[in-house]
Amino acid sequence: MENREDLIKITEKDTQVTKEEFDKLLWPKMRETTDYLKRKGITHLNVRHFAKGEPTKTSIVSIEAEQQRPLYQWIINNQVWGKTINITFNQPEKAALSKTSFGNTDFKEPNGVLIDVDTVRKAGTSATIQMVSVSEKIVKKIEKLWKDLGINNYLVAFSGNGMHIILHGDFKNYPNTFRKKLLEALASEFDEPEAKIDTVTHDAARLTKLYGCIATKGDPTEETPHRQSYIVSIHEDKKTNDLSKLNQWVEETLKKNQSEARKTPTLEKKKMVWMKGNAKKWADHYGFSYKEKAGDKPGITILSFEKCPMKDHTNSPYGFALIQSGDFVMVQCMHESHKEITIYDFNELYPRPDEAKIGQKPISQTHLSAGEKYDFFPYLLSNEGLVWKKGDDKKIKISSPVYINGIKKSIEDNTVQYQLMYKSNDLWEKIWVDGSYIQAGMLKKLSRVGLEFKANFENNLVDFLIEQKQTVEVCYSHKRIGWDFRHMEPVFRLFNSYGNANDMFVSQLDEGAIFDLKPTGNYDTWLQMVKTDVLGTYMEMMLAVGFASMVFAYLKGTTYPELTAPFINLSNRTSTGKTTSQVFAVSLFSSPNSSMDSMNATMNSIIGTLANNHGILYALDELATNSTIDVTQLVYAVSTGKDRKRLNQDGTIRKRSSFSTMILTSAENPLTTFVKNETGMRARIIEFSGKTWTKSASSSEKIKQVSNNNYGQAGIKFVKRLFEEGHQIITSTFEEEKRVMIAELPQSSVKERIANNYALITTAARLVIQLLEIPIRYDFIKNELILLEQEAIEFAKNEQQGIDEKVLEFLLSNGQHFVQFSNAKKPVYNAWGICQRKNDYIQVNIFKNKFEDVVKKLANVENPKRIIQELIDIGMIYKEGDRKNKRINVDNRKRVPTYEFHLDLEYAAYFSFSLPRSLEINAKEITQQEISIDDIAPDDLEF
Ligand SMILES: [Zn+2]
Repeated sequence: MENREDLIKITEKDTQVTKEEFDKLLWPKMRETTDYLKRKGITHLNVRHFAKGEPTKTSIVSIEAEQQRPLYQWIINNQVWGKTINITFNQPEKAALSKTSFGNTDFKEPNGVLIDVDTVRKAGTSATIQMVSVSEKIVKKIEKLWKDLGINNYLVAFSGNGMHIILHGDFKNYPNTFRKKLLEALASEFDEPEAKIDTVTHDAARLTKLYGCIATKGDPTEETPHRQSYIVSIHEDKKTNDLSKLNQWVEETLKKNQSEARKTPTLEKKKMVWMKGNAKKWADHYGFSYKEKAGDKPGITILSFEKCPMKDHTNSPYGFALIQSGDFVMVQCMHESHKEITIYDFNELYPRPDEAKIGQKPISQTHLSAGEKYDFFPYLLSNEGLVWKKGDDKKIKISSPVYINGIKKSIEDNTVQYQLMYKSNDLWEKIWVDGSYIQAGMLKKLSRVGLEFKANFENNLVDFLIEQKQTVEVCYSHKRIGWDFRHMEPVFRLFNSYGNANDMFVSQLDEGAIFDLKPTGNYDTWLQMVKTDVLGTYMEMMLAVGFASMVFAYLKGTTYPELTAPFINLSNRTSTGKTTSQVFAVSLFSSPNSSMDSMNATMNSIIGTLANNHGILYALDELATNSTIDVTQLVYAVSTGKDRKRLNQDGTIRKRSSFSTMILTSAENPLTTFVKNETGMRARIIEFSGKTWTKSASSSEKIKQVSNNNYGQAGIKFVKRLFEEGHQIITSTFEEEKRVMIAELPQSSVKERIANNYALITTAARLVIQLLEIPIRYDFIKNELILLEQEAIEFAKNEQQGIDEKVLEFLLSNGQHFVQFSNAKKPVYNAWGICQRKNDYIQVNIFKNKFEDVVKKLANVENPKRIIQELIDIGMIYKEGDRKNKRINVDNRKRVPTYEFHLDLEYAAYFSFSLPRSLEINAKEITQQEISIDDIAPDDLEF
């Protein structure tokens, strides 16, 4: 649209189009316009030019001549070649041709209509390119509609500030209202905030631009230049448009939109009529000139504007007024096209300045009862009830006293709750209701709690409440706890919210939240207990663990999204302060009552509890082997922050809840007894086994008691100090701690992940020392963690060594399950494979599936593949070339896969083969001992 070389664009005041430019660039385009109209059967145009302070220039000009000389001459004679020129586009009655201008009655059968897709802008200004592009988009949509409805004849033009469509067709076959309805239907379907279809351009004498002329609105600027209007495209198929399908579309569209409009309560529209404010201050702010006069009713002032500030009305600029009534302002414009404008439309273009705002004092129930009245024009609230001032003297009591006293808004989903104060049977009542109640049709449902109002006036009551609630401060609430990264700066949410973010909402924890984070007791009491009973004990570890969860959630939410949460277990057969440790650790942020569950929790309830938790530690007490919880699943869920099972019981996919926090469990036995021995599991668990956490039983009791009565204090102090120091210290400390761990941890396949886990705890330890200035022993904590890993590696090694022995023992103790082909008389039920005595070994083939089942049980793994590979690697399973299993004949036809073992001959007896003579003596001894490969030296195997 912009920057076409053949188009004139004026960006500076006082620049004029020359006669030469007119002949070369403007006139040819005007000719295109008149030629098009000629083809639509138009012979005469009313040509008009409006000039400020001058009489309008108007003539009837014939466009029948080939070269359009009369029109050209008119433009030259009137010297308007650089000005906006308007024309009619319908064919007038013969009788009107002698006039100097046309009125609507001069057209008997108008067959054209102007669809003006105008940009929304202040009066007396030109549009910006962005505004124009929205009107282009709307025209594209209308053209698509035309195509669907078989309309092939129309003209699309750029008006200089928006887009036009000129549509001619057999309008004479339809009622005269068709053109009006068409515009209304198009507007209801395609209007956008930045550009709207003018619904008043349906009249027969309507003027449009003589496309090609310059559109001169306001002073031209680089951004809002005076642009040349021109025809964008002409669509013609030499027939007259059949408008029957369009007519049908119009009727259907209006019907549909009207029923929709009916569904939205009328008060929506009514509410939009008034806005609180001071009209004079508002008008003065924008420098409008107006005359002030008293309204015909008392208390009403009318500011009558010199000209409409919202649109350049072509006929008369007068008729626009701001009307002040009490504290409220409304707008009125007498022009047809502004019939429905409201103060809210005005506010869009000329936002209400601060000085024009009027603050309404909030309603106080005490003052109300004492006789104070609150004016929310046209409503008046008093202790007697709510009155609607319908007209001059007409006052209707619509309800008992009622108002909104509090507003709570959720920062997560924007849901709103209102606290209604209302008088029921002469007593004040209070109730929190869902936001959806404050609308027509819903309010009456509150009659069950005693809300008293006249049913006919439900709309009015809603209207009043919507207006009145503007005086009530909104309190925000949050369900998400811990870190929140949806702001410019991270925010940490406990009972209150903490952080440096400018856009942070001051919000409080939702009342229905699972974790109780409202602090109790005091920090000093807690600190005293830490000094006397925690420092110097293993419990120092728990002080770090208690903060490690928030360290984890911070890192996961910022620089380390791939980080997984370690699952921490405290195991010991005797009671040595495990529960106390858990209470102490969770109490840093929360009430242990709310953040600790016993083992009657289910997998679903645990995941539900953790939802929206980003850093507040959670504890499960007394994990037991007989629990219904699948601990393996739980460890996965916690470490990934997602529920692994995604299906509900009915098989539908459940919305996955997300969280990023750590879990602290306690049990008699190490977690390894609960979980499948899968690869990677070790890297997800930190096991504190057999530790003594407290000094004594009485010290343990004291820690528990103080923690239960002074919870939340340390966490708040920690968080506040963290924001003072800069939350980024979490990342820098963690990176340093991870380097230390990588340097000091023993080598293993999961070293990197173990380092992450431990660095979370040592980072927390460092922060406790730095932020809370509590001298816990960093070196002790770090060294204990490294020791844990050394023990874990040792333990894993022993486990691994055992598996080949377990398999051997298993095969030997089940020799009777293997079929001997050489001993066909011996019946074998429940066969697991075959065995054969070879020259220098016993060959045992065990069915593949059977063996994989056995390995699962022996090694306690879900997937036996890794163990089987290990057995192949150490040469225990015999491998022929690349084949891991070998197919054997079970009868003459079928071959099934097996794993093959070559066992030493001294085990022959276990499979009912005779022993080689040279081994007989040794074998007797062996059977009396525990079976062990180590006991047989290679030399003994000679025979
Ligand atoms: Zn107006």
